This record gives sequence, C-alpha cells and structure tokens, in this order.
Amino acid sequence: MKPEKQVYFRTLLLTRINELLNGAEKTVAEMTDEQENFPDPNDRASLESDRNFELRIRDRERKLIAKMQEAIKRIDDGTFGVCDTCGGSISEKRLTARPVTTQCIDCKTKEEKMEKQRGE
Ligand SMILES: [Zn+2]
Repeated sequence: MKPEKQVYFRTLLLTRINELLNGAEKTVAEMTDEQENFPDPNDRASLESDRNFELRIRDRERKLIAKMQEAIKRIDDGTFGVCDTCGGSISEKRLTARPVTTQCIDCKTKEEKMEKQRGE
C-alpha cells in the first residue's frame, strides 16, 4: 500500500475513533443529568438498570474502538489491507467501507457460506 493511502486510512480510523469517544462523553453527561433529576433513592433501581444499558452500549463501542486501534497497528507494521486468510490484498473500496476488516471479500464470502452451511 502506498504511503499516502496509509495516511488516508489512518486519518479515517482516527476520525471514527474520535467520533465514538465523543459519543461516549455525551452518554456520561446525560447520565449525570439523569442523576440530578431523580433525587429520590427509590428511583435508584431504575436509574441503575438504565445505566447498565448505557454501559452495555459503551462496551460495544469500546470493542469497536479496540478493533480500529488494531487496524492502525496493522498500518504501522505494514499488514493493513492484507487478507488474514489468503494473504492477498483487500480492495481499497472494501477498506474504505470497513477499515477494521482483516479479510478480502472472497474469503469473507466463503467463510459466511460455510457458517451458513454449518447452521443448517
Ligand atoms: Zn482472502
């Protein structure tokens, strides 16, 4: 992959990580607001379950952020855009749509087909 493409994908990944982190900050701010709106300790139970729900969402975001950070590491060590399964190169179009991918479209399609067959 050309150096300018590496810069492009690194910027893309960093932008998405920042977007996710900003979203997480907003969630924390909303949670703080809620707390002030429910001073009665009897409301604490429902507040706690709401918070668990928020934390589950944030857990998913955190995993996505971790995947993106791994993708940035792959840019650094030069394996970004290389298919984990066949060692071929992943198309730039696919990488732009899904920069955390580690498989080319052929291997991904094959894998999904096998998963479907196993499920039947
Ligand atoms: Zn492949």
